Amino acid sequence: MAFDVQNSDGSWGPAYFAGRSVSRDPAAQLRATGQMLGWLIRWTPEERLDEGQILVLQVPLPEPLRLLEPRESETRRMHAEMDYTRMWLFLYESVVSCNEIMLGAGYPVLVNGRHIMSPSPIPRWDVPRLNMAPNLFLFGAGRERRIYAVPPHTSVVPLEFEDYPFKVEDFRGERCRLCGSGDTFLSELVDGVKGERTYVCSDTAHCRKRARCGS
Ligand SMILES: [Zn+2]
Repeated sequence: MAFDVQNSDGSWGPAYFAGRSVSRDPAAQLRATGQMLGWLIRWTPEERLDEGQILVLQVPLPEPLRLLEPRESETRRMHAEMDYTRMWLFLYESVVSCNEIMLGAGYPVLVNGRHIMSPSPIPRWDVPRLNMAPNLFLFGAGRERRIYAVPPHTSVVPLEFEDYPFKVEDFRGERCRLCGSGDTFLSELVDGVKGERTYVCSDTAHCRKRARCGS
């Protein structure tokens, strides 16, 4: 759907899905293109994958401990020794200062009860779908020459506190402007000219099907 309205120079117009267009205001054009690209990067399929299927994701930040420790040798030691105290402390500090865990994409998860992993760029909304999924997930970070995987039927549990449980994004009752969905992961679009905020499904194929079939 996004590519149907992409301009020949690779940009998107400030009116997003209304059709191909350019703006006299280059900042509006740039803003819309940036949002569309960000939206495409976060794309994960709404429909559940089956055994034998593989979802490959490009990961901007593959090391969940990098926020806390810049040295690669030290993060490797922390993983090897399951020394995750600093991660728990970081989450606790987030709760104390913001009253919630302030993490979006890349929310840390515990895989198979052993390793903390970053599911970046998957938004929190899709994190529960990693747990015991029948398909294989492959995460690749080219710049860091790192690849990691979640095998099928593996336990994937987001880190949480008993009194501050993991929560997915709250869209405050907003609906997709293209198909009307209120139960899918939505991406916010800001009109570069009028400044209006609208929402569309992150999964364009599912959105198109829903708009066509009404379900
Ligand atoms: Zn939709």
